[in-house]
Amino acid sequence: MNQENFINEDLIQSLIANTKEDESKVREIFAKSKKKEPLTLEETAQLLAIRSPKLLEELYQTARDLKESVYGNRIVLFAPLYIGNYCINDCKYCGFRRSLRTTVRKTLTDDELRAELLNLEDLGHKRLILVYGEHPQYSPEFIAHTVRIAYSTKKGNGEIRRVNINAAPLTVEGYRIVKAAGIGTFQVFQETYHQETYAKYHPAGTQKSDYMWRLTAMDRAFEGGIDDMGIGALFGLYDWRFEVLGLVSHAIHLKERFGVGPHTISFPRIQPANGLNEADLPYRVTDDQFKQLVAVLRLAVPYTGLIMTARENETIRNEVIEFGVSQIDSGTKLEIGGYQEKREKNDQELNREQFQVGDTRDLDETIRWLVSRDYIPSFCTSCYRRGRTGEHFMEYAIPGFIKEFCTPNALLTLAEYLEDYSSPRTKEEGYKLIDRELAKIPEGERKNGIIERLKLIRESGKRDLNY
Ligand code: SAM
Ligand code: SF4
Repeated sequence: MNQENFINEDLIQSLIANTKEDESKVREIFAKSKKKEPLTLEETAQLLAIRSPKLLEELYQTARDLKESVYGNRIVLFAPLYIGNYCINDCKYCGFRRSLRTTVRKTLTDDELRAELLNLEDLGHKRLILVYGEHPQYSPEFIAHTVRIAYSTKKGNGEIRRVNINAAPLTVEGYRIVKAAGIGTFQVFQETYHQETYAKYHPAGTQKSDYMWRLTAMDRAFEGGIDDMGIGALFGLYDWRFEVLGLVSHAIHLKERFGVGPHTISFPRIQPANGLNEADLPYRVTDDQFKQLVAVLRLAVPYTGLIMTARENETIRNEVIEFGVSQIDSGTKLEIGGYQEKREKNDQELNREQFQVGDTRDLDETIRWLVSRDYIPSFCTSCYRRGRTGEHFMEYAIPGFIKEFCTPNALLTLAEYLEDYSSPRTKEEGYKLIDRELAKIPEGERKNGIIERLKLIRESGKRDLNY
């Protein structure tokens, strides 16, 4: 397999060092992104160089507008489910790393996994990301086995309709095995695209110390039949601008090589973790830099979903969600078995978890927050189940697509949630939002179809009526 290093460090460093804010160039780039054209590295660097408050505000507004026109006002909700935290690696920022003797290690048994799934379904979740440490226990066969349990564990109207994975990079054959279990996106975060920093945080001799094996993880995934690829960088290990340019280089590489860009980009910021000395992190990303990087990514890769996790606190999530985020997790529990143990919300034990969660609101509160901001909380899983993935997803991600599929599916899955799982207050506010959204849809066949389906959900108990 061709081990091409598509990260041109010299070019990235020179772009960071030599690009200065240039108002007229920035305006040209805004105009280009309004046409939903992906940006080059040079253009991305130009946006990263913006410092004046006036241009920053324009950047944020362009990101808001672009998000609205590509994704509409829906936000897709999911929950992470940690399957096991045994790990052979020693990543210096992670609460699961092998040298931490105080970490409580556990892999869910099949029965424990089912119990976790039933609890997640009882909360209303339909989309999960299963998360694993890197360990021979977590083979492709084991991952596929857990995915199958996730799909087959059902209770009442509760079911998991999409399972994504965040696990160590696999071989092409390994991806095939996992794909056969029906996964959605396979995520691997590069952590840092800067090789020297990568070596510093991933000690030599560990599996994860191989930068190229990780960098080419998505190339192998594609060859193994997975066309929904999730990439990411762990912000705080190295210069945030380098990581953004690394992510954009990665997206350009995938698009050039396979005709499909990444399905999602994640941009976790390092959080406190067991054994992590935050003073050792000279590149911590400020809130202002975080806002800017999310907005720049929105413009640079208009058709890639952006995931903002509950690592970020409520205040930041409230602010940054506008700049182009399309997916968030909610009610997140990181402890292995955490969805069964009814702990107090803020009672996290870091020796059982990978890192500290910033937004501890439960799913119902999150939904009420989104509704109050006129976002449609969505549990839609339709594209993947109807084969609109990879290249086909890209074809569909054109004007009209959102009106045709995303908004109706968001409204229908929200109604399911309101009927089956929500608190009375959320139900009331949720249906008001549905009415406001219906009022925006022109009269005609499409609107009648949505109203008909909503009625079937409310009055006849029908479920999963997706477009
Ligand atoms: N073990 C696999 C791996 O490392 O790719 C998959 C799961 S790992 C549990 C998921 C991600 O969590 C990592 O890729 C890393 O970016 C992130 N992470 C690790 N430690 C973190 C911390 N202290 N704060 C925030 N995110 C962290
Ligand atoms: Fe293991 Fe992943 Fe944590 Fe690294 S980030 S120590 S590979 S669980």
